[in-house]
Amino acid sequence: MASETFKSQIAIGFESSADKVGVGIVNSDGEILANQRATYKPEIGKGVIPRDAAEHHAEVMPTLLRNALKEAQISPDQIDIVCFTQGSGMGPCLRVDAIAARTLAISLNRPIVGVNHQIAHVEIGRLIGKLEDPVVLYVSGGNSQVIAYSNKRYHVFGETLDIPLGNCLDVFGREMHLDASHAPMGRIIEELAETTDEYVPLPYIVKGMDLSFSGILTAAIRKVKEEGQPVEVVANSLQETCFAMVTEVAERALAHLNKDELLVTGGVASNNRLKEMLDIMAKDHGAKFSGLPPATAIDNGAMIAWTGLLMYQAGHRQELEDTLVRQHFRPEEVQVIWRSD
Ligand code: AMP
Ligand code: MG
Repeated sequence: MASETFKSQIAIGFESSADKVGVGIVNSDGEILANQRATYKPEIGKGVIPRDAAEHHAEVMPTLLRNALKEAQISPDQIDIVCFTQGSGMGPCLRVDAIAARTLAISLNRPIVGVNHQIAHVEIGRLIGKLEDPVVLYVSGGNSQVIAYSNKRYHVFGETLDIPLGNCLDVFGREMHLDASHAPMGRIIEELAETTDEYVPLPYIVKGMDLSFSGILTAAIRKVKEEGQPVEVVANSLQETCFAMVTEVAERALAHLNKDELLVTGGVASNNRLKEMLDIMAKDHGAKFSGLPPATAIDNGAMIAWTGLLMYQAGHRQELEDTLVRQHFRPEEVQVIWRSD
């Protein structure tokens, strides 16, 4: 990935768009030198409260920064470019990574680059997954999108019309009181689902290329609470239904766009059943299927550093005045100047 026309550079990336906070350091050879992360844990039974998460992120950010520099074995003055997640995400949370980046950029007198969060997931996926031009299924607590490159933009070809897939799993788990252990809810549901092959029908909602999970969530909760279905059977059914839906949309994107690589990323991408379904589908199309290790699939600072570095080296320049956070920042808004195809 090294670019011959530029000297090797080091970028730092700050990410705190949702419940995770991270500081990553990469170089222009595509090596991840550090990737420190912490997670805000809401009270049992509650979802993420943006202001509380932001407070947590601000508290741990200095320690993460110090640990990242130590992990990378560099001093602050070796940093060439300072990158941060500008959006999309939760406003109070985003402001933490933006303030950290502005402060560091000003004190070191270095350029600052605001990165689109979804694009960063795609770019770190291309780097770590060694992919050229994948269709990307990005499924997390805050996003459910099928993203692909076309004509100098990353387009969202399909997405949720209401709640994200990870959120659907999280709320179902909370309603079932499964969150005492503090493990990711999706993993607890996955473990429950693995104990049975039984299946109860749930609504299957795909509209064109878009998805809806809120009706399924309500139906799943009702199956347990009103119809007395065992929670593991409904957990299994919820996975089978939701994963089949995202696989269908990813399949159509792959076929219509005539691409031959499929990448799954985001927190839900650690699910083995989802990966199995996507792998089978990709094989049917003669496409290569890849996942990522959790450190680069889950929200992280390295993906922000890497994407900001690509942008900067391609000529992107940004004034401090243009670093206000953007909660609804869409990937389509960014011209992809760093890809030559
Ligand atoms: P992210 O938003 O990318 O940080 O990912 C968090 C989301 O991933 C949450 O909704 C989790 O419940 C979900 N998740 C984590 N592990 C798994 C798993 N093994 N299966 C399904 N979902 C998971
Ligand atoms: Mg994310």
